[in-house]
Amino acid sequence: MTQDWDAGRLDSDLEGVSFDTLAVRAGQHRTPEGEHSDPLFFTSSYVFRTAADAAARFAGDVPGNVYSRYTNPTVRSFEERLAALEGAEQAVAFATGMAAITAVVMSLCSAGDHVLVSQSVFGSTISLFEKYFKRFGVEVTYVPLADIAGWEQAIQGNTRLLFVESPSNPLAELVDIAALAEVAHARNALLVVDNCFSTPALQQPLKMGADIVTHSATKFIDGQGRCMGGAVAGRSEHMKEVVGFLRTAGASLSPFNAWVFLKGLETLNLRMRAHCASAQALAEWLEQQDGIERVHYSGLPSHPQHELAKRQTRGGFGAVVSFEVRGGKEGAWRFIDATRLISITANLGDSKTTITHPGTTSHGRLTPQEREAAGIRDSLIRVAVGLEDVADLQADLMRGLAAL
Ligand SMILES: *Cc1c(COP(=O)(O)O)cnc(C)c1O
Repeated sequence: MTQDWDAGRLDSDLEGVSFDTLAVRAGQHRTPEGEHSDPLFFTSSYVFRTAADAAARFAGDVPGNVYSRYTNPTVRSFEERLAALEGAEQAVAFATGMAAITAVVMSLCSAGDHVLVSQSVFGSTISLFEKYFKRFGVEVTYVPLADIAGWEQAIQGNTRLLFVESPSNPLAELVDIAALAEVAHARNALLVVDNCFSTPALQQPLKMGADIVTHSATKFIDGQGRCMGGAVAGRSEHMKEVVGFLRTAGASLSPFNAWVFLKGLETLNLRMRAHCASAQALAEWLEQQDGIERVHYSGLPSHPQHELAKRQTRGGFGAVVSFEVRGGKEGAWRFIDATRLISITANLGDSKTTITHPGTTSHGRLTPQEREAAGIRDSLIRVAVGLEDVADLQADLMRGLAAL
C-alpha cells in the first residue's frame, strides 16, 4: 500500500496505536499539496462546483463544508484529535470552555429538567447555572463532590445531568468517576465531567463510564496561555445535539485557535508529565517547611483520596498545588507578594507558573460562611505549576516562606 494522498486519502493508518501517537497524528487530513503539518484553513465560506452541488451540500445529502460557523477543516482536525485522545466517538470545538459547558446544558436539557452540580466548580460555571439556566426553568442542586451517597440522594425523577469537576479547584478533591457514572445511569441521567485540570493525558473520564467530557482548551491544551477555546466530547447521539446548538448559537472556534491547539495536543503528554513532576516535587517539599500548615495535592500520601487518585489518574497528579500558610490572609498575601518569578494571576495551564489567593480572587464573591463550607481558608494559596526549572520555582517559594 502506498501513502497516496493525491488520491484523496489522507489519514495516517492509526489502527491500534497508542496515546502519544494519536496525539501527534490523529485528525490530520493531508491535502494534495502534501503538507507535513496541519494546514490552517482561514476561510469563512466554501465554493461549490455547481448549483446542484450547492443544493446537495446545503441539504446535507453530500458531505462537505458550507460555512465556517458549521464546519472548518482545521477545527475538524482538532476535534478529531481530541476525540481520539479522550476515547470519544466525537468531539465538538467551541470558542471558549464556557461556551462548551453552555452548549451541553442548552442542547440536552429543557425547562423542568433538574441538574446536579458539584459544589466546587469553576466560578463562571456556577454563575451560568445560578443566574441563567435557573431563569429558563432548569432546576439546580449542588452536591459535595466526593459524597457518592449524597449524589444518590439528590437525584430526582427529572434529573438529566450530573456535572462535576474532578479534581476540584483549588483543593484537589476527587469523586470516584466510575461509581458516580453508575449512580447517574441507574436513574437514566448523564454524567458530565469537566476534564480541564487533568486533560486526557492524566484522566480519561469516558473510559471510566462518564458520558460527556468538557474542556477549556484555554488551559493545558493550549498550554502556553495564548488562545481561548473549548470542547465537548462523547457519544455521537449526544454530540449531534451539541453540534445542532453550536451551529445555531454560533460560539464556533476560530480556525487559528484550532491550529494552535493541534500543536498543543502534540506535546500535551510531555508537558503534563513535566507539570506533574514539578508539582509533586514542590508539594513534597512544601509539606516539610516550617510555616506551611497544610498542603492539598492528591499525589501526597497525606491527601485523603490519594488511593483513589492513584486508581483514577495515570502519569501524575496534576499541576495545581494548594497550601495553607501561617498567619491567615496577611501571611498569604505577604507570601505571594514576596515572589519574584511566579506570576500573580488566577490563570492556569500555562508554561509560566502562577500564584493566587483564592479567598480574595476566584472565591472572593462567596460569603465567609460559603468559603468556610468550601474549605477555602484565608490562609490558602494556590500555585499552578508551569514548566520552569523546579529549583528556580522552589527558590521563589522560599522567598514567600521567608516573608511569613
Ligand atoms: C477556565 C475553566 C473553564 C472555562 O473556560 P474558558 O475557556 O475560560 O471559557 C471551565 N472549567 C474550568 C475547570 C476551568 O478552569
